Amino acid sequence: MSTLSPVRFPCEACSAEVAGEIVVVGNLSTGHRLATRVLERQLNTFSCGVCAHSHTVHRTVLLIDVGAKVWWHAYPRWAEVHWEDLSRSVEVQLRRNRRAAPPGGRGPWHQRVVFGYEALREKIVMWNARLDDVDVEIAKLHVLSGRPEWAGARVSLDHVDEATLWWRLMPRRGQPVGLRTPLDLLSRAGPRGFPREQLLLDAFVSMRRWFVPSRRVNPLDFDLDGRSIINDAMHLRSATDDDRDVLGEHGPAEMS
Ligand SMILES: [Zn+2]
Repeated sequence: MSTLSPVRFPCEACSAEVAGEIVVVGNLSTGHRLATRVLERQLNTFSCGVCAHSHTVHRTVLLIDVGAKVWWHAYPRWAEVHWEDLSRSVEVQLRRNRRAAPPGGRGPWHQRVVFGYEALREKIVMWNARLDDVDVEIAKLHVLSGRPEWAGARVSLDHVDEATLWWRLMPRRGQPVGLRTPLDLLSRAGPRGFPREQLLLDAFVSMRRWFVPSRRVNPLDFDLDGRSIINDAMHLRSATDDDRDVLGEHGPAEMS
């Protein structure tokens, strides 16, 4: 069962009221519709009934699949600067839920914390293609290496075919860039100083942990209840806004 929440807000183009239901907790095991929405970049996206302007409500979303033991917790993208506290909080939540779970729900889960719907989408791409996300994160380091103009860029796996990894690179400034690399990039070891285990210290399995210094936060500010998020108009952004970098003055540190 999924948890939905009603939402209504004024269209940012024509001010007409837009109303609908957003996914708060999504159950991936009840069909492919939800995963398809995410893959089509339509999660929590609504069109204005008057002018058809598209809006995406960016908020904390949990996607689970109890049968496959998948637990993907997506915080808004701008919360990434708090990845350490939020990752720890998610681990505690899953541990509590597992204790209360029926026997089938016990044992190790594929538990991940991501920031933004694009990163959530990437988890589905990897899961469907049966790729190890640690391999993918290491491959991203290779994609960025030797390209100082892409320092701080976000890279996500857009799709995969038999021989090619198709990437979407979002530079700190400018438009997203499409890139392709051979699939065998996934079998290359990480650059020196980036051991695999360092990506598995907590649920934030992302090479961005080396780029984004983590700032303290109260995890309740970003919980699934999300009242503070929904009621704050700044968290309603169009898809193009989401492509912009939101790290502001606390931009990612250089790779050392
Ligand atoms: Zn409108």
